[in-house]
Amino acid sequence: MAVTIKNASEIEGMRISCRKLGLVLNQLTKEIKPGMSTLDVDILGEKLIREQGGIPNFLHYNGFPGSICVSVNDVVVHGIPKKSTIIKDGDIVSVDCGLIYNGFHSDAARTVCVGDVRPEVRKLVEETKNSFFAGIKYAKAGNHLYDISNGVAEYIDQFGYGIVRELVGHGIGRNLHEDPAIPNYHMNKKGMKLVSGMTVCVEPMINMGRAEVTFDDDGWTCRSEDRLPAAHYENTILITDGEPEILTLVEE
Ligand code: MG
Ligand code: MG
Repeated sequence: MAVTIKNASEIEGMRISCRKLGLVLNQLTKEIKPGMSTLDVDILGEKLIREQGGIPNFLHYNGFPGSICVSVNDVVVHGIPKKSTIIKDGDIVSVDCGLIYNGFHSDAARTVCVGDVRPEVRKLVEETKNSFFAGIKYAKAGNHLYDISNGVAEYIDQFGYGIVRELVGHGIGRNLHEDPAIPNYHMNKKGMKLVSGMTVCVEPMINMGRAEVTFDDDGWTCRSEDRLPAAHYENTILITDGEPEILTLVEE
């Protein structure tokens, strides 16, 4: 799937789709409470997406059974919503959501601290979010793609966390996943030159321990191999000649 540069009307389409997703995430993240199952979170997420007039784009994507991904503690990403997975006080829960609106895809993720989360785990969640912002400082036309990757990785290095390598960020538009792939780890090449009108997902996936991950037999659930907590933070952004627009982040 090639890199697509969006024209003015496509950019407007992306803005609208992404704003809807930002509103969904603001509401969904407030509702996650101990005692809910990850299926409850999925059902609520789908309801909020449909209330915005969107279609959940993860549902049936390569056979994924949920409308959103709900990943608890050592699950890095792609947690399948289940009735049997109950959220407890002290858990961290990543919700990765996307929707299609008027043909345009949006994709974003937040990790929520539920109740009394241990300080070192809370810090992992905060620094994962901070690493997104450290990376997108470089997301500007004329810079290179891997400037973003190195920005994330350099920020994370100071904490000794493990940066997941198996999964990366991506371009987005009329398709959920477009080129280019955007690693969160150090790259010793420059990558393509960034161009105004690219829309991309930057999404650090950070393990408190080692970087290695395993996949459950379901083929989806991605866990830290050492089973220590993992966090995920993602937004769809628009590359411009100046600061990037963070399309899925809606101020409350
Ligand atoms: Mg996502
Ligand atoms: Mg993504």
